[in-house]
Amino acid sequence: MTRTTPPRPLDVASVFPELAAMSRTATRLHPRPGAPTVEVSSVGGPLLWPVEEAWPTCAQEHHARRLNTPEEVRTLRRILTQAWRHRNPDDGLLTREERAVVDRIHAGHDPHLLTADPHPLIPVAQLYARDVADLPFPEGTDLLQVLWCPFGDAIEGCSEAVQLRWRRAADVVTVLAVAPEPAYIGADDLVPTPCVLHPEQVREYPAAHEMDEELVTRVYRWEEGTTLSYRGDLSGAPGWKAGGWAAPYTFRDADEPDDLRCSECRSPTAPLLTVPSGEWDGESGSWRPAGDEPESDAPPYPGPSDPTQVTVGRGYTLQFYACTGDPGHLPLTVVQ
Ligand SMILES: [Zn+2]
Repeated sequence: MTRTTPPRPLDVASVFPELAAMSRTATRLHPRPGAPTVEVSSVGGPLLWPVEEAWPTCAQEHHARRLNTPEEVRTLRRILTQAWRHRNPDDGLLTREERAVVDRIHAGHDPHLLTADPHPLIPVAQLYARDVADLPFPEGTDLLQVLWCPFGDAIEGCSEAVQLRWRRAADVVTVLAVAPEPAYIGADDLVPTPCVLHPEQVREYPAAHEMDEELVTRVYRWEEGTTLSYRGDLSGAPGWKAGGWAAPYTFRDADEPDDLRCSECRSPTAPLLTVPSGEWDGESGSWRPAGDEPESDAPPYPGPSDPTQVTVGRGYTLQFYACTGDPGHLPLTVVQ
């Protein structure tokens, strides 16, 4: 099923012609829970990984309030998804047996169980070039793989905790059958539920922090006479996306462009992947794709706007920036 973003209520460049030169395309990924294979683009799905290549690990020390195994995270989601789907309002949500399992998982394991051994990263996304025209695939590559270390204090910055692989799918002769998994997850909301993608290219304009201040002032003044929101309706697409403009900063001032340079070679970086805490929210509801209207009887868990069940911090967005000099350099990630 394809997902189609409704047309913008207004092309903002018709009101502010200077924005026309700043228009860019992005690829909305439209993840939906499914059973992706290594052959397709996915979020949280298995990676087409050559059996002879070491799986990336992170040897940094991380902290978590509780630990869960990857299997516990999957079990918890399976129980809650089933319970909400088959819920009988006269009974409680969970059976006594389910409640016991959920309570045990919520209690988690003692954070001191975390050893200093390097922990395998987990797959975040795998994107084939045929699905995402908006990614700068280095010559000779057609597959981007993104992995991270699922701890809240790990995913921001520039380190081995967040890694990219650009490869040529045809070079992978023997696929790794079973990927290593970390013994423990520090933040279960950094474990994407396996999703298939329905990529769609959309047109975007920059967030306010990448615009001339004088233009921002005029846009905000114009907004006051409308029901439209430049940030919510007219500029960047919400949700998981590749390329396009960076997400707006929502809880702090924007970084200076110099702060966003590649830490390996100091080249400028460009937005690569945007990992949100939901596909749309109250402000950006006009981007909700056709076919995703809420059904009155739809279970509230996991929720139509939360297919991947990833939450960044308190509902922020993790913006990936890739080196424009060498996309193989470590990406920079910023919570925005
Ligand atoms: Zn670089």
